[in-house]
Amino acid sequence: MKTEFKNWPQAHLLGIPVDCLTRQMLLDYLLDQRGRAGSCHLVTMNAEMAYAASQEPEIMALLQQADLIIPDGIGVVWALAQQGVRVQRLPGVELVEALFQLSPQKNLRLAILGSSPQTLAAFESQIPERFGDVELVYSRNGYFQPAEEAEIVAAICEARPDILFVALGVPRQEAWIARHREVLSVPVLMGVGGSFDVLSGQLQRAPAWMRRLHLEWFFRLLQQPSRWRRMLALPRFVIKVLRT
Ligand code: UDP
Repeated sequence: MKTEFKNWPQAHLLGIPVDCLTRQMLLDYLLDQRGRAGSCHLVTMNAEMAYAASQEPEIMALLQQADLIIPDGIGVVWALAQQGVRVQRLPGVELVEALFQLSPQKNLRLAILGSSPQTLAAFESQIPERFGDVELVYSRNGYFQPAEEAEIVAAICEARPDILFVALGVPRQEAWIARHREVLSVPVLMGVGGSFDVLSGQLQRAPAWMRRLHLEWFFRLLQQPSRWRRMLALPRFVIKVLRT
């Protein structure tokens, strides 16, 4: 079921709706989602994902069924600026961190599906010191067989989280959410890619000076050179936006 409460502007990028709201508006909206009927599938979109959607109808369909799409990367912010639309960049990893910070004070029940066992163990061991008394009601690594899915869905339903972070990579996590959202009836479902790898310290985030120069993508390439092929989507995205 799609949520319909939106009192902010939407822009369109390569046929994809993008929600233009501030970080505080988004956090308030996600917290209030507990009191609304239905679930909210939040996508934090970067240029790579937008380009993939423009090329592959299955990915476009996944984005079209999402309720909120926000700009995760500078590429999306830049592309919208080409149309005269100014939006705040809202990196998924920062949202995840903010929601963990809010959990004790707002009684937010959180759940994680995905990431490696090492990442999850490292992250969970850091929770008490970093975030305090977080209600992490479910966590499971992302290396499971299709036959285990029914049991995973049942366990998440039983845990009754307010927010489920799905860390299976793009677009698998979006497809997983789309497939199970009705049965899960979790208020907020969010694909978070490698966020827990970064938050646990297994993968480093770019230093502040590189982030300021919008070179986060370059730092990522240095850390994971095997991503170079995937990152060819970035120049293709730029060309496509300039031609549209
Ligand atoms: N992952 C997983 N199960 C898998 C494959 C990947 O849980 O079968 C996790 C992986 O450990 C990593 C995340 O999914 O934490 C994907 O991270 P990536 O940085 O590739 O995310 P993307 O850029 O695709 O959003």
